Amino acid sequence: MTIASQQREENAVFRQLIDAGDHYIGTVKAGQTIRIVDVEGNEAADTLFFNAADPSERYSAMDTVREQGKVYLTTGSELRSNLTNVMLTISADTCGRHDTLGGACASESNTVRYDLEKRHMHSCRDNWMLAIANHPEYGITKRDIAHNINFFMNVPVTANGELYFDDGISGPGKYVEMVAAMDVVVLISNCPQLNNPCSGFNPTPLEVLIWD
Ligand SMILES: [Zn+2]
Repeated sequence: MTIASQQREENAVFRQLIDAGDHYIGTVKAGQTIRIVDVEGNEAADTLFFNAADPSERYSAMDTVREQGKVYLTTGSELRSNLTNVMLTISADTCGRHDTLGGACASESNTVRYDLEKRHMHSCRDNWMLAIANHPEYGITKRDIAHNINFFMNVPVTANGELYFDDGISGPGKYVEMVAAMDVVVLISNCPQLNNPCSGFNPTPLEVLIWD
């Protein structure tokens, strides 16, 4: 369900552009609001959340889907951890639907899905690994990287129960906004994928804004 935010950009306490193919890691405190903006449209934000106090508690697609009884994420969705705790709640959404089934691109999936020569192409998993290697202060290791949310990405579930990666349903300036229920580390890969239509074969910037 699309619902616009009441937050005003000029009141944001933090604002950062994530260049095409780049990544972001940072903390959102309990009670703060985080917005991710699809600046030019048709981008995918491959996102992981961790409990800032203990990264072994992390976003869980299984717990989120089971508890809400729906496969897509939108306004009102409670994003749950592997301990079934609510980590964040989606408070506004102008895109309308976000995927948490399709996973993130990696050199392995690029090889299997597209071609052996795609193996060395930059991927979301590379972005996450680089972020946690450059920022050991968050205490996140390779073993903590699990399934993710693909904000703005269109992964329809067909009547036969199949998934496929489709052209985007997002557009320039569309955003999703969440209120944190605990101190959360946010790890975003601005998907560098060039082999499927989820980023329009042309990765573009995302933006993160945070309000107190
Ligand atoms: Zn990706």
